[in-house]
Amino acid sequence: MELKLYDTLTREKRVFAPIDPRRVRMYVCGPTVYDFAHIGNARPEIVFDVLFRLLRHLAKQGVWDGGKGDTAVTYVRNITDVDDKINARAAEEYPDLPLNEAIRKVTEKTDRQFHEDVAALGCLPPTVEPRATEHIAEMGVLIERLVQSGNAYVAEDNVLFSVASMPDYGGLSKRPLDEMIAGARVDVAPYKHDPMDFVLWKPSKPGEPAWPSPCGIAAPGRPGWHIECSAMSWKHLGETFDIHGGGIDLVFPHHENEIAQSRCAFHTGVMANYWMHNGFLQVEGEKMSKSLGNFVTIHDLLYEWPGAVVRFQMLMSHYRQPMDWTKVSTEQAATALDTFRQLTRIPQMANPDVGPVSAAVLDSLMDDLNTPRAIVELHRLADQARGGDYDAASDLLASCNFLGIDVSSVDLQEMAKRRHGQIDEDKIKTLVAARSAARNAKNFAESDRIRNELAAMGIVLKDSKDGTTWEIAR
Ligand SMILES: [Zn+2]
Repeated sequence: MELKLYDTLTREKRVFAPIDPRRVRMYVCGPTVYDFAHIGNARPEIVFDVLFRLLRHLAKQGVWDGGKGDTAVTYVRNITDVDDKINARAAEEYPDLPLNEAIRKVTEKTDRQFHEDVAALGCLPPTVEPRATEHIAEMGVLIERLVQSGNAYVAEDNVLFSVASMPDYGGLSKRPLDEMIAGARVDVAPYKHDPMDFVLWKPSKPGEPAWPSPCGIAAPGRPGWHIECSAMSWKHLGETFDIHGGGIDLVFPHHENEIAQSRCAFHTGVMANYWMHNGFLQVEGEKMSKSLGNFVTIHDLLYEWPGAVVRFQMLMSHYRQPMDWTKVSTEQAATALDTFRQLTRIPQMANPDVGPVSAAVLDSLMDDLNTPRAIVELHRLADQARGGDYDAASDLLASCNFLGIDVSSVDLQEMAKRRHGQIDEDKIKTLVAARSAARNAKNFAESDRIRNELAAMGIVLKDSKDGTTWEIAR
């Protein structure tokens, strides 16, 4: 079985083969730390975490005849900590502080929050999490190279990439040239040679974050957004690497420009061999926006649900498909995981690492991370486990663990109890017994009255041939 991945650049699904089998290299564009991440931002974190886990597993199995330890896969996810949005947020939130101090407060707080959230979503820490502000020197080296090779020019203390200098610019997004020009015309600085040229470096205003500028520019400045990913992937992965990932919204202009910078600086045919993009996410059938009031942050969701539920729901859609985030599917995910927890309780107690990962689950992931198909397999294992198949129960648990889904964290009755506050279990048991006695005596008026009394307390009864059980209404 071979791993096949869909590559946005060539628009085809291909067998994955690493450049260096001893070290599989993946770069994913990470967050800009200025605000709570919304649920759309969680999608790449979860999707590429599943890929990271799968790559590590395959390396361990010796699939590429290379390194076998956890170091066999290097996963780099950057943190953008220099950006105009950060500056704006800092000035707004801390108007009385010097800007740089305010920026530090905003980025530190957001960064901490982001890490807590992705950990709760079951994501492993990437191998390296480079920060843009710690790679200004590498950005300067790249910018100088691009100017020397005639791919960039200095204009009014800015450095701009000359799109015309790269004949095959635009290969990733495959946008028609006139469309790209029309997009670029929205905001054309007078010093640009061509409207499509983009910023590599720009001067900072007094009080803004600033570093010594490259290319002999006297005024201090700061980098453009795209150059940071070219610099950080180069530093940590080399001139060419295996996989570059991110959300579909990054294809143009961000990834297109990363490719232009890296390929022209290093004179290479590709920047990465596989470009992977996760699809858009909308909420209840609508585009998420603060003005529509449907802006769902990861933090809000995690207040209500265990991270495993959010992760499972995310994996219910194939990563390349657009996804509609609905309350109904959150409930479905929660119910499924609560069932899985109950079915795997015995192997969980015996050994948390019990059982092999289901071959059918792995096969599904090998086919361009087909997680919906993997989830169908989990349900199939659950059906077998329900029929008393212990091996299926332990395979189910192992497969959920492999996907980073902690089923033991999803107990809907416990959650309902917490929401409900204090309950008087003795009183409930007494009432349930009294109702059973009334039913046995065929006193249905009394049994209905007790059922209603319990319902008013938020208790739901379930009658079966084995007797009556109760639970807290969700
Ligand atoms: Zn990037």
